[in-house]
Amino acid sequence: MNEELAARLHSLGYRLTPQRQLVLQAVDKLGHATPDEILAEVQLHASAVNASTVYRNLEVLEELGLVRHAHLSDRAPTYHSVSDHTHFHLVCRKCQRVVSVDAGEVAGFADATRAQHGFVLDVGHLAIFGECVECETDA
Ligand SMILES: [Zn+2]
Ligand SMILES: [Zn+2]
Repeated sequence: MNEELAARLHSLGYRLTPQRQLVLQAVDKLGHATPDEILAEVQLHASAVNASTVYRNLEVLEELGLVRHAHLSDRAPTYHSVSDHTHFHLVCRKCQRVVSVDAGEVAGFADATRAQHGFVLDVGHLAIFGECVECETDA
């Protein structure tokens, strides 16, 4: 995986620096994480890495299509890895639970949006807010 990744980065004019690799590994491990959470994870392995390095590397990794971000709260964007399938998010406003849903589940909707509105959905950036059933029944 790392050699493939290194080759891909190289072809785009980037190097797979140790920091970049740590950031990518942290995103992979955490699943969904804010830059601060990613920083904390990276610092477990390389305590000298600072916040701006993490932010910069997240931007580069997103440009390269290796991570994505979505807005799952009013606070910082949440990053997630794209090493698995493309997914979107269902976010419970009460318990902040995030459910990742395969993009295939909205393929019909995406096709209709394209046909009827001439608009291509960016499903990986999508977050739908609501309440999970457990929170709903608590109310
Ligand atoms: Zn996600
Ligand atoms: Zn909930």
